[in-house]
Amino acid sequence: MSSGPPARHRTRVIRLGDERTGVVTIGGDAPVSVQTMTAGYTHDVDACVTEINRLAAAGADIVRVAVPERKDTAALVEILAQTQVPIVADVHFHYQRALEAVAAGVHKIRLNPGNIADRDQVNAVIDACKDRGIPIRIGVNEGSIVERKDKQRRKEELGKIFSEHQHGHLMAIMIARLEEYLEIFDARDFHDVCISAKSMDARLVIAVYREIARRFDYPLHLGVTHAGPKETGAIRSVVALGTLLAEGIGDTVRISYASDPVYEVEDALEMLYCLGLRTRVGAELIACPTCGRIQVDLFTLVQEVRRKLADEIELPIKVAVMGCVVNGPGEAEGADIAVFAGDRRGIIYVQGERVANVSEEEILDRLLAECLAFQSRVRSGEVALGQKTVEIIPPDPIGTLGSGVDKIAAGDVEQVTIGRT
Ligand code: SF4
Repeated sequence: MSSGPPARHRTRVIRLGDERTGVVTIGGDAPVSVQTMTAGYTHDVDACVTEINRLAAAGADIVRVAVPERKDTAALVEILAQTQVPIVADVHFHYQRALEAVAAGVHKIRLNPGNIADRDQVNAVIDACKDRGIPIRIGVNEGSIVERKDKQRRKEELGKIFSEHQHGHLMAIMIARLEEYLEIFDARDFHDVCISAKSMDARLVIAVYREIARRFDYPLHLGVTHAGPKETGAIRSVVALGTLLAEGIGDTVRISYASDPVYEVEDALEMLYCLGLRTRVGAELIACPTCGRIQVDLFTLVQEVRRKLADEIELPIKVAVMGCVVNGPGEAEGADIAVFAGDRRGIIYVQGERVANVSEEEILDRLLAECLAFQSRVRSGEVALGQKTVEIIPPDPIGTLGSGVDKIAAGDVEQVTIGRT
């Protein structure tokens, strides 16, 4: 089985951004982009700019802002001048907000067929976007879909087609609404479009996006809406989005949490790194779950290491934080830098070389210092990432390894050896 990234479902391409922000491509062979949305008021310019810049610094490729009122679109010119990432205006109910946002120079519009359905209004937005070369996302959310009387028969027909699915009726409504809306865009010969069809139900999201990918060649914006707080929303989101992405479906993603949106960006990126759909930026942290062999406060250490690495390491250095020398060396295989803890101490390896045996209190600072020095050496070309891995020579009697605390204390871990890959 190939370990490469999933083969992508082929789609059209849309582009958003300008010289100042850079242009983000969605669809085709472009890397899967990460979106998020500000949580604060758009009309509060300073706070909105601060939030957008913070999200961009966390790795967001695109940031969406809500524009429910005229004062929100009025703020866009100032916001756009102070940010360096493409901005999407999220429009519901009032098509005038879309026209105002386009006039302000926004980079993309999101329309919801569930609440802006008047053909003349949609045409006005399409024409404005066409004039400025701005794409539109058609976002069909399960929660905002309202059945229309004259389309009932068609929905019932589609409902029968999808009746084998648990969510056949909802899928039918979402796809019917999407088809109706796309007819308006087709009639205007406007194809600068991407599509989303979100729900809070992960299984419905998987089913409906599979069907949309089968029917349309527009790029797809994936999301599980109202996923809840990060603690549970992460599972709900990654189950649905990860399944689709592993099947090659999806061109841009937004994870939605009732939490700080920075988490949305961090988790979306980690999901894409895991699937090989984005090139990792920053360190990759491996850590053991701990067990009855542990003799340091590894959970605290891991969180501190994670924060330090996020702040200070830009290269994809693989760092392992392991609780002991019993299984640690094997599980840390492939790490550039590793610490094996035990008996209130830590032994630090840098690409195979044992460089330090320090007390528990010193582990964090020394590990970070080694990571920074290693990053400099990689940048200068002196060493390469992943050049050496940690190996363990079996079989020192497992009983001895099992009580390896004494060896750690003595700085004697000869059973841990290093080999080139
Ligand atoms: S590395 Fe050691 S402490 Fe961590 S889970 Fe494995 S055996 Fe337990």
